[in-house]
Amino acid sequence: MQVITSPQAMTAWSLEQWAAGRRVGFVPTMGYLHQGHASLVDLAGNHADQVVVSIYVNPLQFGPDEDLDRYPRDTQGDLATCERHGAAVVFMPSTLYPPGFGTSVSVPGLSQGLCGANRPGHFEGVATVVARLFGIVRPHMAVFGEKDFQQLAIIQRMTEDLALGVEIVPGPLVRDADGLALSSRNRYLGPDQRRRALSLSRALRAMRASKLPQVAALRQLGLDLLEVDELDYLEVVCARSLEPLEHLDRPARAVLAARVGSTRLIDGMALEPRP
Ligand code: AMP
Repeated sequence: MQVITSPQAMTAWSLEQWAAGRRVGFVPTMGYLHQGHASLVDLAGNHADQVVVSIYVNPLQFGPDEDLDRYPRDTQGDLATCERHGAAVVFMPSTLYPPGFGTSVSVPGLSQGLCGANRPGHFEGVATVVARLFGIVRPHMAVFGEKDFQQLAIIQRMTEDLALGVEIVPGPLVRDADGLALSSRNRYLGPDQRRRALSLSRALRAMRASKLPQVAALRQLGLDLLEVDELDYLEVVCARSLEPLEHLDRPARAVLAARVGSTRLIDGMALEPRP
């Protein structure tokens, strides 16, 4: 496994793979890798000959009061995980934005609600870094986790709208044995906070198990189970357009963001249509 830090060297490596007829798979991350990330590396390996994992904590996607400065890092652990899961390259640039960088990519419709409403500018930062990473890494395909469902929809839209020619493959959400969605931010949680954080997946599971077709009643069922300090949103949205639904008459997703202590957690679950 190679570690590449320069964007030019990264592109040169990738162009060699293209020339040799090898398919390049890509998994963009911010590091502090867990089993959820590792599952995306495995998935990329099923779709490509060589897998590139990028590790870059992208300042553009953090708001002024967010955790950019204390975002957890573990370079040695991350490299070991990538190696174990068969990555060919770990791309770890010290910065991605050269002097004079002046472009922002926005996908306004899909970025408006949900996390976009609570994190102004976040999805522009995500779309911009992913567009630039695609330009540097030149992947044939890339994997994005369904844990960040709105992000996945935005990347799919951007890739199609800008004809970037990258196949986007969704990776299923991976949970801990107790149901908590794996996240690099879980390490911020103290024992009592972690206990209360389990109420996110419990609420979603109850919503999925209920037979209620009306979203208002379904939502109330979930709200009653939450033990969080602050709720950003709990919505039931169309799985394709992310529009809020009133009735579960098409494939949907229950999506949820909340704070436990100062840690912001997100989670989501697919809901089948109910006639
Ligand atoms: P991050 O490092 O948090 O920016 O995440 C990098 C990628 O890993 C994104 O595509 C995330 O959606 C994905 N990811 C994060 N947590 C999980 C999880 N628990 N299960 C599956 N994918 C995940």
